[in-house]
Amino acid sequence: MLCTKCGSENVIIHRRYSGQHLCKECFIKTIQKKVLKDIKKYKLIKKGDKVLVALSGGKDSTTVLDILSILAERNIIELEAITIDEGIIDYREKGIEYASETCKKLGIPQHIFSFKEHFKITIDEIMASNPPRKACTYCGVFRRWILNKEAKKLGADKIATGHNLDDEVQAIVMNYLEGNIENLTRIGPATYSQKFVTKIKPLREIPEKEVTAYVMAKGLKVHLEECPYRKTSFRKKIGTILTGLSEDHPTILYSTLRGHAKIRKALKKELEKESILRECIRCGQPAARELCKTCTLLKEIRRLKDEIHSHNR
Ligand SMILES: [Zn+2]
Ligand SMILES: [Zn+2]
Repeated sequence: MLCTKCGSENVIIHRRYSGQHLCKECFIKTIQKKVLKDIKKYKLIKKGDKVLVALSGGKDSTTVLDILSILAERNIIELEAITIDEGIIDYREKGIEYASETCKKLGIPQHIFSFKEHFKITIDEIMASNPPRKACTYCGVFRRWILNKEAKKLGADKIATGHNLDDEVQAIVMNYLEGNIENLTRIGPATYSQKFVTKIKPLREIPEKEVTAYVMAKGLKVHLEECPYRKTSFRKKIGTILTGLSEDHPTILYSTLRGHAKIRKALKKELEKESILRECIRCGQPAARELCKTCTLLKEIRRLKDEIHSHNR
């Protein structure tokens, strides 16, 4: 099989959804082109923006950083990275190490923040106390809190995350199956909200398999191991089903994404409540109620710890 674009014999990937065969160079170029085109199409970034990449050291966020560095090199944007240490022993250290290496290699400033310094507790410590929720709930809420707070302090205009096509379609299907139809209105290429720094997803239309192929083709050093807490998640089950379906229906991820984009407008009109955000009375971050989600969860964890403590006495 020859490369559909240049005729080279060194084909590294076959795109079943488009029928293309691509060599390494053409593949790298098509990914970069597609991501930069989507940024333009969805107006994710404008000239002069300060963009902060939420960099875990995994394949997705590393790819975002690598591609956005093209715009930084052309002096179109200012680019920095923010890495969060959730405190997951034998897992997170490697990710942070690789993230730092990539930043150094690309000459991009990196900021590292931890759950421990912000909340005085790590994810491992939270999970050891047998809390009522899944690790991903605490992790997601706390990570968003740090990202928003620090991004504001750093004067960032956008926070770029590594969500790929598979992640987005999983989120759509999960919310649909769980009946969280309102949540469907919030899934999209960018999330705008008055009190939060705008989040953008430049890899939203790139299949996970191709993100993996991109880091391999470019020789980027990434942490490929899966988070130990993700193994039991509902998302993971949905992911397995969708991957299976894609084998017989190669375009299914794209058709789900396109279908969602069509119904999103109608859903928005019908369901989106003007959520009036105020400020959390404890931390001052945006909140729907008196306490923000982070402070609510922290309060819950503290109560639990006190109970264990008094029980052991
Ligand atoms: Zn080629
Ligand atoms: Zn709060």
